[in-house]
Amino acid sequence: MEQLHRIVVPTPFAVGDVNMYIIEGDRLTLIDAGVKTEEAWHVFVRELQNIGYQPTDIEQVIITHHHPDHVGLLDYLPSTIPVIGHRKAAPWIAKDAAFFSWHQQYFEQFLIECGVGEEGVTKLGNFRRSLRFSCERSLTQEVKEGDVIEGWIVIETPGHAQSHIVLYREADGLMIGGDHLLAAISSNPLLEPPAIGEQERPKPLLQYNDSLKKLLNYDITTIVTGHGEDVTDVAPLIDKRLEKQKERAQYVWQLLNEKPMTVFDVCRSLFPTVYEREFLLTMSETIGQLDYLEAIGAVKKEKVDQIYMYEAVRS
Ligand SMILES: [Zn+2]
Repeated sequence: MEQLHRIVVPTPFAVGDVNMYIIEGDRLTLIDAGVKTEEAWHVFVRELQNIGYQPTDIEQVIITHHHPDHVGLLDYLPSTIPVIGHRKAAPWIAKDAAFFSWHQQYFEQFLIECGVGEEGVTKLGNFRRSLRFSCERSLTQEVKEGDVIEGWIVIETPGHAQSHIVLYREADGLMIGGDHLLAAISSNPLLEPPAIGEQERPKPLLQYNDSLKKLLNYDITTIVTGHGEDVTDVAPLIDKRLEKQKERAQYVWQLLNEKPMTVFDVCRSLFPTVYEREFLLTMSETIGQLDYLEAIGAVKKEKVDQIYMYEAVRS
């Protein structure tokens, strides 16, 4: 079976280093492309040389999802290298102007409904700044559920990102997991707007839970991940992550059982200081728990003066 090499590069984000992988298949394939900093590029080139290659030897890149720490270095690679990923990664990695203006417009409205008020709009600035570590490249080949590429099966795993895919090699049960399931930290489902032309926003935590359970259908020996070490105890770790999520949701229900709250109220209760720094991340986590509680019938929401109020349903 073809060799898989891990290359670890630094990122300026709280998550720390990010992993990239080189597969020596029929074509020399890079999985994920770091973050766009000089430092990451230098580390990448050095580590690539250690395994006997130059950047120009890479024949194709597959991205597990569109986040800046997995695509940024595409800008340093020759523009002729094919870039393969889920179709939903395309507008992000191309910095598509129409998509980003829709993103901004959608969140401005959405954050009002969450009770963030005027300051919400300014808080989106942090998110936009993170995009400078991303790339501006087009997706040259789309892959979807069930496609086979270089002998790896593509599995769609939306939740952490709408564009998220993992790759599975049946012969030995190896999975390239991106950020779907990490060994040391729980992966965060992130809020994204609906696709242009769609009304309903994705519910990332519900999708994420489904995508986690989906892994149980495969005989996985090892998952090589986007951050940190490999995962080998897949089923117990999935149980642990799902259990932890239910505990968090239970805590949110208790807050709402004291009094009805807006999404932003809940967010500030859960993340009293962190929400300032990691606004979209903490709001995503909060919305996720509320979507979950709503889906199981434990809370209900009502729109009052444009703002959603959530309250606990007592059984
Ligand atoms: Zn990510």
